[in-house]
Amino acid sequence: MPVNQSQADDARAAILERATAAFTDRFGRKPEAVAIAPGRVNLIGDHTDYSEGFVLPMAIDRFTAVAGAVRGDGSVRAGSSREGRVVTLGEVDDEGGWTRYVRGVVDLCAGAGLLVGGLDLWIESSVPTGSGLSSSAALCVGIATLIEMLAGRSLGVMAKAELCQRVEHEYAGVPCGIMDQAVIAGAEAGSAMLLDCRSLGVERVEIDESEVAVLVADTRQPRTLAGSAYADRRRACEEAAGRLGVRSLRDVRDVPGSDDEPMRCARHVVTENARVLAFGEAVNAGQWAKAGEIMNDSHASLRDDFRITGESLDAMVECAQSIDGVYGARMTGAGMGGCAVVLARRERAERVSRELAAAYESRTGRIGEVFAVRAVGGASGFLVSS
Ligand code: ADP
Ligand code: MG
Repeated sequence: MPVNQSQADDARAAILERATAAFTDRFGRKPEAVAIAPGRVNLIGDHTDYSEGFVLPMAIDRFTAVAGAVRGDGSVRAGSSREGRVVTLGEVDDEGGWTRYVRGVVDLCAGAGLLVGGLDLWIESSVPTGSGLSSSAALCVGIATLIEMLAGRSLGVMAKAELCQRVEHEYAGVPCGIMDQAVIAGAEAGSAMLLDCRSLGVERVEIDESEVAVLVADTRQPRTLAGSAYADRRRACEEAAGRLGVRSLRDVRDVPGSDDEPMRCARHVVTENARVLAFGEAVNAGQWAKAGEIMNDSHASLRDDFRITGESLDAMVECAQSIDGVYGARMTGAGMGGCAVVLARRERAERVSRELAAAYESRTGRIGEVFAVRAVGGASGFLVSS
């Protein structure tokens, strides 16, 4: 279904209202501030961010909303519609679960001088968890944005992104790059973000939504091996950089012909960096067929060189690539399950979504979900008048 700007605005307003109402219900008072952070889909540039390479993600009209108010007693109580109950941090047995993200953002914001004392928080979200649309980064950036509002001081987009990346590293044990947090904090509506993960420089890449649609195709394949595969590949990239005598694979132009794992991974990173830049140019020039071909090449590289796609993603992408009206398709995010991203002709988008879901089901027996997304702006926060 085509998604237009007013639908994206409606979705944003609806979830903010739900968060406000649920907060009032659970805590018996109105929130003092609300914040909203989008999920994201990466159009191209996977497994390049931690090698200081290029990525080109887009914030999407799936949102995490956080409503909150300061507490005088210094304690932090948080609840999420995904979990149901309100917990007091420090009193839960489950600090390995979702509350570690809350703990991490609160601690690091305090360390950065955003002192608010205690907090009550309620979280609502339409970003699916664990599908590769970055619900964890949306959660962290949403909470950090709320704390900025309550503290009356802003960290700045990239400092906030880096703070939320540290939460993933230090509190969740996920050694991720900066891509998700940067685009969720700093995206501009109507555009994807070409991000240089070394300099943190960004360029807008406008998506002409009258001509093309971006579809997310969820394989509904749980990403069970994703954590260990991610860490393995990251180590392989570091080993390759060491063997090639560079700080990171960003500095490599040509990878020697050797076909062992570190060198295959390096070849993916080096060629993917070039594809990100070429894709950005093709989109800027409205060369959709070329942009789509580059996406297809990216998937092949992730499948054959990086070996991170897995059967379900390969099936989804192959089904998509054979449908009329599709310019290109590739896995997106960390891989091993999760979502693919599809670039389709706008007027065919609805049919492509239906045909792709049906083709994937008949090929794999698994029921996937395909939906159009819109390029929205990054996180924002508001004070609630009493
Ligand atoms: P992804 O970021 O790709 O969705 P992750 O495994 O990195 O997948 O993050 C998912 C985790 O983030 C969930 O298991 C949960 O701990 C936390 N999370 C994300 N969104 C919410 C939410 N709305 N409420 C509670 N926890 C959430
Ligand atoms: Mg995540």
